[in-house]
Amino acid sequence: MKITQADYVISAVGPAQYPTDGLPEIALAGRSNVGKSSFINKMLNRRNLVRTSEKPGKTQKLNYFIVNQAFYFVDVPGYGYAKVSKTDKEAWGRMLEAYFAERDSLSAVVQLVDLRHPPSKEDIQMHDYLVYFGHPVITVATKSDKVPKSKHQKHKQMIIHDLGLSKDEPLLLFSSLNGTGKEEAWRALEPYLH
Ligand code: GDP
Repeated sequence: MKITQADYVISAVGPAQYPTDGLPEIALAGRSNVGKSSFINKMLNRRNLVRTSEKPGKTQKLNYFIVNQAFYFVDVPGYGYAKVSKTDKEAWGRMLEAYFAERDSLSAVVQLVDLRHPPSKEDIQMHDYLVYFGHPVITVATKSDKVPKSKHQKHKQMIIHDLGLSKDEPLLLFSSLNGTGKEEAWRALEPYLH
């Protein structure tokens, strides 16, 4: 995928701020610290489009990035950050509900999980939630460079099993450190970008 343009557009707290041009949206969801910002930056060839240093769980907004003037990446705030208050968690839930239940331009969701660990309870809930709303889910297992190659298959099977992925739900390995999986991820996204 040739990236000719990638820019931050808006941080939306609700539907009133979503773009109105109807371009397809790819949402990116994952637990805080899973490597979501690094994934977006790597995919878009930008070192710092999404700040990776930001305190996890702090941004409770949907961050829109427009790519090649053709589609959006929508950075969904990370879940599972223990220090977030109950009120903030509820606000987060409402914001996500408004987005995942009703957003017509949402084309597919990339759900990021950490290849090193079994999916968390929240990873499983999020996956079930996305499937419930009928969204195509591309699962990306991050930080593959941190797992020895000899164990990749075993860890993949663990994720497939725990999330209950079916045969036609893709699971890709990814490393923002060495670029593993980047072209494969673009190939998986291709059908959803038009
Ligand atoms: P986010 O909270 O999901 O946006 O996660 P970040 O992208 O900020 O990454 C969290 C931490 O994991 C940072 O220290 C990153 O440098 C590190 N990280 C992210 N992706 C990878 C990866 O593919 N390999 C390795 N080794 N570290 C990664």
